[in-house]
Amino acid sequence: MTDLLIRGADLVGRGRSDLLIRNGRFVDPGDAGADVDQLDADGLIALPGLVDLHTHLREPGREDAETVLSGTLAAARGGFTAVLAMANTTPVTDTAEAAEHVAALGARDGYAQVVPVGAVSKGLDGVELAELGLMARSSTRVRVFSDDGHCVSDARLMRRALEYVRAFDGVVAQHAQDPQLAGASACCHEGEISGKLGLPGWPAAAEASVVARDVQIAELTRSRLHICHVSCAETVDVIRWAKQRDINVTAEVAPHHLMLTTNEVLGYDPTYKVNPPLRPSEHVEVLREALADGTIDAVATDHAPHARHDKEHAFAEAAFGMLGLETALAVVVETMIKSELLSWTDLAKRMSIMPAHIARLTDQGRPLAAGEPANVILVDPAARGVVDRNDSASLSRNNPWHGRELPDPVVATIWAGRVTYQKGR
Ligand SMILES: [Zn+2]
Repeated sequence: MTDLLIRGADLVGRGRSDLLIRNGRFVDPGDAGADVDQLDADGLIALPGLVDLHTHLREPGREDAETVLSGTLAAARGGFTAVLAMANTTPVTDTAEAAEHVAALGARDGYAQVVPVGAVSKGLDGVELAELGLMARSSTRVRVFSDDGHCVSDARLMRRALEYVRAFDGVVAQHAQDPQLAGASACCHEGEISGKLGLPGWPAAAEASVVARDVQIAELTRSRLHICHVSCAETVDVIRWAKQRDINVTAEVAPHHLMLTTNEVLGYDPTYKVNPPLRPSEHVEVLREALADGTIDAVATDHAPHARHDKEHAFAEAAFGMLGLETALAVVVETMIKSELLSWTDLAKRMSIMPAHIARLTDQGRPLAAGEPANVILVDPAARGVVDRNDSASLSRNNPWHGRELPDPVVATIWAGRVTYQKGR
């Protein structure tokens, strides 16, 4: 492989510098030989490759909606060099063999590192513990376990899962949704708008009450808990309380919850049907502040591709979920950088360093320094564009940002020394 020299990138906080990549790693830029490919990074910011804790790649089982190839191409376009692939595929990733299969698909087709998430319960049924130990000891060394799509609502099962993963420094990632308070049909934040539209309500308490219970169980078991897609202010209060008590809990927020509100649902457009639902603006404000002060550790996309025939229905019948990989950084720049709630250094923590740490990925979220794996993105802080859902690597089109003007920051993505995306190429 020819060396790659990135010239004059802004290494936020460390001034402008060249970066030289050889055999998948950074080396001293002074070592550049004559035979070197060059990438001009004048005016661009270099950040560690982004890591998404929460991606639905849909393969195996729903290759009409997304594949490992299309999903990781979308990831590369969005600046991601690693994605955690959620377990709710067909079959479910609930055995060592299933996890190794997903990892093998990633090794074959991936434009980013594909890290399988293991299910907490067999078949995501919430009853019987999946093969957590075998998945952890498999060649893919699964560390993140989640029944995402479903809540681990049985407190005893949650306790057992947390006790189990502690042995190998694993983490249980909870989709917090009390099924008694917010059942499968709940699809709109419970309030004025759900009443007006006649849609089944999804109250904030259904999320916050499960998180309140789970942080108690995490304290009891002295194990590691992660909260998926925090959507409401009440949950932020609980997480802040738990962190003050030194309970081992981390949390993520999805880009759509940082910007979109329940008002989007007024047009009954199923593109805006997502679980947990979009919340009123006062929740959005609290989520931004919580991401800024570190109460929420990470941004995670909850990229959820759906084929047209699953999404284009009346609101109540349509599938839950939105695309997110290609637009996540744009939304975080728009909501957090422009408002100066986050610096670029802190953005790198929330979108690369912390997610890599939570998932215990050793080759991601690393400094841009000699000897380290060359996972890096180049970002234009000023570029903007209008999002077009048809200009996408994803096989699906359920893009809630279609037609909006947003930042268009990603210029190039380099994963393990390989250019996986370059704007205009
Ligand atoms: Zn979920």
